[in-house]
Amino acid sequence: MIVICGAGIVGLSIARELLKKGAEDIVILEKERSLGVHASGRNSGVLHAGIYYTADSLKAKFCLKGNLLMKEYCKERGIPVLETGKVIVTKKEEELETLYELYRRAKANGTEVKLVDSEELKEVEPYAKTVEKALYSPLTAVVDSKTVLKTLASELESNGKVKIIRDVKVKNLKGSNVLKTTKGDFNFTFFINSAGAHADKLAHLFDVGKKFTIVPFKGTYKKLKREKSYLVRGNIYPVPDIRNPFLGVHFTKSYNGEVYIGPTAIPAFGRENYGIIKGLDREALSILFKNIILLFTNPKFRRVALTEPKKYIPRFFFKDIEPMVEGISKEDIIPSDKVGIRPQLVDWERKELVMDFLVLKDSNSVHILNAISPAFTSAFAFAEYVVSRYIFEEVRYAL
Ligand SMILES: Cc1cc2nc3c(=O)[nH]c(=O)nc-3n(C[C@H](O)[C@H](O)[C@H](O)COP(=O)(O)OP(=O)(O)OC[C@H]3O[C@@H](n4cnc5c(N)ncnc54)[C@H](O)[C@@H]3O)c2cc1C
Repeated sequence: MIVICGAGIVGLSIARELLKKGAEDIVILEKERSLGVHASGRNSGVLHAGIYYTADSLKAKFCLKGNLLMKEYCKERGIPVLETGKVIVTKKEEELETLYELYRRAKANGTEVKLVDSEELKEVEPYAKTVEKALYSPLTAVVDSKTVLKTLASELESNGKVKIIRDVKVKNLKGSNVLKTTKGDFNFTFFINSAGAHADKLAHLFDVGKKFTIVPFKGTYKKLKREKSYLVRGNIYPVPDIRNPFLGVHFTKSYNGEVYIGPTAIPAFGRENYGIIKGLDREALSILFKNIILLFTNPKFRRVALTEPKKYIPRFFFKDIEPMVEGISKEDIIPSDKVGIRPQLVDWERKELVMDFLVLKDSNSVHILNAISPAFTSAFAFAEYVVSRYIFEEVRYAL
């Protein structure tokens, strides 16, 4: 039996890929009662188009391909895909250099992008503002990630070869092929760890990836007043600090017509710390300690840790987004309960945030670490790679 821990987009996509390869007996263990409670159901729903990532990265390899596969999947099943594209705008002249670097990366990654001036920008996003130039990506799209998850899960379950067992938490490893869970022991021939924000802890049970640890960042959102949603047609993004993995607070018009503004990347003190104190547990102190160490040792982390929390203050939040859209006022920004956690992997020996997806393997298990953005977009293409490169050889004897 192949056991997958975690029924987020990564676990479900790997199960789908295993089925394609002929696997017959797959169990997915999910600790929540329903799907999409964590990152896969709390994201922006943006299908990224492979712009930001250096050409040697897994993100670059799978983002654009994943975007195309996910669009095809959704269209075949009647799941709405908003093919509204995206613009990346500059707030000040100093950002132009990075904008050109993004253009070069996008070209190297084989995606379609165009550098546009302020007038051409208006044809795509009539109210977007930029300094001199902006980058237009026609392939970026938006989907409802919860609908994608739900559709995928019900297709897998109806096949009869995949069982998704909800409300069961993997707690420990007994010997080399028995999982201890809240609902008893599960034997496995091969184990796949796609546990999102908890993936490092599970990997450590297998003695895998011991130098890596997850540090959570909270992504909060606000919304544009409904009457002002006409200000945004699709996606308006800022130029990010490309030394860090976060893309910056952006405007996204979602499938329901709401314009979300976010997410922030504020250090959080729990892997599921969605509220101020909600989701804090015994680990909070140790996360705080890790944050303090990173604050002193890593200038890139320090920049994020010192600037992002200010965005809790409406004045700072507005100051950050105001240069991107014309005709927006502070009163147009309203609260939203949308919030997610980005489980950012840190190489603790080097005290560096890991920028790319990471797959680690031992004899009878594979561990997906750092499935951060754009892992939702990349999921189908990434799963093809994980299964053919790391799993298929191991499990085909058991098929
Ligand atoms: C605010 C935010 C915005 C984002 N925006 C985008 C975007 O626009 N586009 C994009 O491509 N990506 C985006 N991402 C990233 C994307 O959402 C994630 O990369 C992706 O959802 C990760 O999927 P996953 O399956 O690895 O993790 P998850 O969705 O977190 O799934 C892991 C599952 O494992 C379960 N689990 C954990 N531990 C255990 C255990 N011990 N036993 C049993 N079950 C367990 C959890 O309950 C969870 O359901 C965003 C992320 C955030 C947080």
